[in-house]
Amino acid sequence: ARIAAGRARAASFSWTTCAAGLLEAFPSASVFGIPIRCETMAAALARIAAARDAEHPKFFAFVNAHCLNLACEDAAYAAILKSCDCVWPDGTGVRMAGRRLGFPVPENVNGTDLFPRLTGRVFLYGAAPGVAERAAENIRSQHPQMTVVGTADGFGDERAVIDAVNRVRPDILLVAKGVPRQEKWIAAHLGELKCGCAIAVGGLFDFVSGRIPRAPLWMRRLGIEWLYRLKCEPVRMFRRYVIGNPLFLWRVKKSSRGGVQ
Ligand code: UDP
Repeated sequence: ARIAAGRARAASFSWTTCAAGLLEAFPSASVFGIPIRCETMAAALARIAAARDAEHPKFFAFVNAHCLNLACEDAAYAAILKSCDCVWPDGTGVRMAGRRLGFPVPENVNGTDLFPRLTGRVFLYGAAPGVAERAAENIRSQHPQMTVVGTADGFGDERAVIDAVNRVRPDILLVAKGVPRQEKWIAAHLGELKCGCAIAVGGLFDFVSGRIPRAPLWMRRLGIEWLYRLKCEPVRMFRRYVIGNPLFLWRVKKSSRGGVQ
């Protein structure tokens, strides 16, 4: 009888129940239908490094509350985010959404904090003429683990940029042309790009070049970097934050009741 009881007990430990338990422990993370990879910065960096050996270039992006608002209004952008290899959670808004929708966000994985920890051969594409070059100079002096193998501003001939990238075949192509322009550009050209991965990084070069100062560390730690950006660019950022943040929380609340898809 004991043997039979043991067999019955063992039968309850099938792979199916194991997988179901795992899925429950890691609830699927998505906001408005956009899957979000809730992992640590270290895991994201490992994923970027692994892309070097991939057969086809990987496409990585970040989303904050503003991006997710845009995704509700721009179906093409939303579809592109769904097709990304990874979309990482950027900022307090996504963490709050996770709390409401039932998934944990272990770390704020954003381009500006991830950038100084990148390694390998990097191509900088985007921002006003001269900004990527200045960012490259700062990288050479402050982040020697990265090698800048090319730069291009975000307003010139796009064909020439693709040719320049393909000549040097960087590990990482950083595209900083603003949301959602940069994601649309990557999606349109990923098939012809020769690189390990393309990462959409927004206004990153403006910060790295020193053109726009970043919020003080204490504000970043408190998760109120957006307040600083509002102070610097009140007109442009008003819609994004003062209207956008409450709108985002309202949309999250609605989606948690099954409203927004
Ligand atoms: N930009 C560009 N090409 C364009 C339009 C914009 O390279 O055709 C650059 C712009 O110079 C800036 C960045 O894209 O450096 C967008 O910055 P923004 O602060 O709007 O980025 P977001 O915060 O929206 O990601």
